[in-house]
Amino acid sequence: MSDSSTFDVAIIGGGPGGYVAAIRCAQLGLKTALVEKRAALGGTCLNIGCIPSKALLHTSEQFHFAAHQAAASGVEIEGKVSLNLETVMAKKDKVVTQLTGGVDMLVKKRGITRFNGHGTLLGDGKIAVDEKEALSAKHIILATGSAVVDLPFLPQDGETVVSSDQAIAFDSVPENLVVIGAGAIGLELGSVWARYGSKVTVLEFLPNIAAGCDTDVSKLLERCFKKQGIKIYTDAKVTGTKEIDGKLNVVAERKGKELAVPADKILVAVGRKPYTDKLGLDTVGITPDKRGFIEIDDHFKTSAAGVYAIGDIVRGPMLAHKAEEEGVAIAELLAGKAGHVNYDVIPNVIYTEPEVAGVGITEAQAKEKGIAIKVGKFPLQANGRAIASDATDGMVKIIACAETDKILGGQIVAKGASEMISEIVTHMEYGGSAEDLGRTVHAHPTISEAIKEAGLAVDGAAIHSL
Ligand SMILES: Cc1cc2nc3c(=O)[nH]c(=O)nc-3n(C[C@H](O)[C@H](O)[C@H](O)COP(=O)(O)OP(=O)(O)OC[C@H]3O[C@@H](n4cnc5c(N)ncnc54)[C@H](O)[C@@H]3O)c2cc1C
Repeated sequence: MSDSSTFDVAIIGGGPGGYVAAIRCAQLGLKTALVEKRAALGGTCLNIGCIPSKALLHTSEQFHFAAHQAAASGVEIEGKVSLNLETVMAKKDKVVTQLTGGVDMLVKKRGITRFNGHGTLLGDGKIAVDEKEALSAKHIILATGSAVVDLPFLPQDGETVVSSDQAIAFDSVPENLVVIGAGAIGLELGSVWARYGSKVTVLEFLPNIAAGCDTDVSKLLERCFKKQGIKIYTDAKVTGTKEIDGKLNVVAERKGKELAVPADKILVAVGRKPYTDKLGLDTVGITPDKRGFIEIDDHFKTSAAGVYAIGDIVRGPMLAHKAEEEGVAIAELLAGKAGHVNYDVIPNVIYTEPEVAGVGITEAQAKEKGIAIKVGKFPLQANGRAIASDATDGMVKIIACAETDKILGGQIVAKGASEMISEIVTHMEYGGSAEDLGRTVHAHPTISEAIKEAGLAVDGAAIHSL
């Protein structure tokens, strides 16, 4: 192999795990290659995930405000508020292009060599791009991300039965949208289309929506969605579809009865699975586990010497910021530094209205683990800024160790919870206590004051609630 195709580090996959790893490797003086099969960098996150979905959440919120809420705030709009979905999608695409272009520029400016094509391991540090041997590296980082999960009895056709890949790009507003799965992706895209006028029904197999949150948080969120006109059925086991009076219906078993919901589009949002297609794992002796994840040790090492893995293809939450942190950590480890990810403080957000953000353990998890805790809660109905901003649906909940007062977790349901959660994350990162939160001065009036109050409530000392 020529000098120009030999690298210190080669990364397969240019998503938030891979491109961030590449940038950090280059910053640390490692000769770096990045192999990505998409034309644009940024992976699922920038192209078909986090960013397009947030752009749609933003524009749909604006539309919904203009159409349904503005008048109550004294904003008189003459004539009918109408939707131009083409403009909505063009705006979303522009956001995506701006961000993927930005990553492309960063990668170029850092001197990272980009290979555009499908990367396959060949063994001995060699990698083929689109089946042609193209480069070799001392260290290889696998960051190939994830793909949508199909329901075997309801295969996706990309038209009627779709995944988030299509639901971020519908060319008309479906009259009836059935969302299967009440996780972040289903609830976010369900909210988008409900705001644009679809009749949205969410079917969830589990007893609560937003799995991973405490029950009181899920129940509060469920009430909020119902107020917004989104129908939610929990404990609903979808079994397939059938025609009733010439109309397609999604059928589910629920509490011993059959539930049938009319559908023009069916969004399957039941999770994502690691993506390792044609990666050549066998050539280096890596066998993914039963669920398809690549096993790694605490330093991201796979079972193959010189091969590492990060992001959605390895254990842990499938989140962009988790992948990014792993990208930084592996680069630092390869450069001989002490790369590290604190998995106890990875925040998780659902960007609905209100937003839900959590970090650390929930009350239920503490009980399961037998950890003695104290809980402080503060409702947004008692927060001045929330009242002034029509945003009283929500609460903050702090979970602290009963013995030491150290914060073990926090959950926020609030407008802007995604921004607010960083305060709890930071306190936890530094080993802060509920008292630390309660004694931290917060600007007034802010919804964040509810975090301080919840910290105080851990010791029964909240000022603005009983
Ligand atoms: C609709 C939706 C909304 C989301 N919203 C959020 C959110 O709000 N916040 C959040 O944290 N997470 C969100 N996620 C999840 C987030 O997108 C992923 O966790 C994140 O992108 C994972 O990063 P990654 O680098 O591991 O993989 P990916 O982003 O999936 O990137 C992997 C890249 O590898 C490339 N690739 C794969 N195989 C090969 C190969 N053999 N050769 C070359 N290239 C290859 C792929 O083309 C892809 O570009 C969302 C996901 C979806 C689908």
